[in-house]
Amino acid sequence: MTRLSARVRNVAPSPTFAIKAKAQALARAGRSIIDLSAGEPDFLPPPLVGVAAVAAVQAGANRYAPVAGMMDLREAVADRYRGLGLDVQSDQVLVTHGGKQALYNLAQTLLDPGDEAVVLTPAWVSYIPQIELAGGRAVCVPCDPEAGFLPDPDRVAAALTERTRFVLLNSPANPTGAVIDEERLRAIDAAAAAVGAVVISDELYRAITFDEPAVCHPLLADPSLERTVIVDAVSKTWAMTGWRVGFMLGPRDLVKAATKIQSHSTSGVCRINEAGALAALTGPQDFLGPVIDALRVRRDTLVAGLAAIPGISLDVVPSGAFYLFPRVNDLFGRRGPDGKVLENAGDVAAALLELGGVAMVPGEGFGESRCVRMSYATKQEDIESAVTRLASAVSQLG
Ligand code: PLP
Repeated sequence: MTRLSARVRNVAPSPTFAIKAKAQALARAGRSIIDLSAGEPDFLPPPLVGVAAVAAVQAGANRYAPVAGMMDLREAVADRYRGLGLDVQSDQVLVTHGGKQALYNLAQTLLDPGDEAVVLTPAWVSYIPQIELAGGRAVCVPCDPEAGFLPDPDRVAAALTERTRFVLLNSPANPTGAVIDEERLRAIDAAAAAVGAVVISDELYRAITFDEPAVCHPLLADPSLERTVIVDAVSKTWAMTGWRVGFMLGPRDLVKAATKIQSHSTSGVCRINEAGALAALTGPQDFLGPVIDALRVRRDTLVAGLAAIPGISLDVVPSGAFYLFPRVNDLFGRRGPDGKVLENAGDVAAALLELGGVAMVPGEGFGESRCVRMSYATKQEDIESAVTRLASAVSQLG
């Protein structure tokens, strides 16, 4: 047996893989599966993106890129955020391999063993493992479904200590779609500032909202990014999940330190991908309006369909990102196709996959075992069939 580090032994594997593996096995066996588990948009990036990448290949973009990113992309990122009102320069930008690596680098840069990081749960599946891999301790502040998954600033403040190095915010959120209002953001920000904790604002879904625009967090109290870090990426807004281009913007010393981590791990992002990302950021942005309109129709179809299924309940219609995170705890105690009593969201997701052929991610990996995550960034007709299938599957539970 290979002797593995305690670090890796202590990190839990993602529970999303189990359902994915099961969905793939059923599809291989010829079952028709509707996949609502994917955390990625189903639309295409603007055509200019591919054109720019091909041009980069033809121009011979074969060499290592600068660790912190190509200067024109860093400038474009800074410019995009200046356009929102921030006072930020290109030397405050680090280009990373997706938003994920920006967050990973931040955990490595900010945490010493035993340090704490505050995470609002339900939370994206990698926040806590990344904190733990850096030797830190994640202090979770639950945000209840009944409260629309919005944080209670007093609970956040109570979780902060002199060991808190950062507070992670994600609005609109994965998996809940919740968009945090300005008042709560201000209160959390003030509490973090009072203990000297950095605020990391994961804004990957900021551009995808259906009602009010989401707040770019540091605009509220820290527009030149002295104690706030924004994490963003081309993954969701421009439908470029596979291109692996993200960025962080933050205090100069912190960005420099995170660049040092990156210089010893992945180095700079591929020049070709950076050229594509540059085209995405600087090209016309009018593609997004129709995408949001289509997502709104899908969301409303799914919300209306779920409302008619007893046992699946959505406390609030989320106003951002492309996920629903309904509660399924009223189905606990029923029996799945194998006769076993359903005890948690993992059991429910597995039973509904088996009976209805609809794949969803159980809430456990996000820190909420009463819910399942459904992505509606998928074809409208699949969403309609998913609703019919789920209604039938639920009615078959024992
Ligand atoms: N942050 C959130 C909230 C996410 O949902 C994701 C991906 O699903 C990421 C970060 C990582 O994004 P990327 O694919 O750019 O690494």
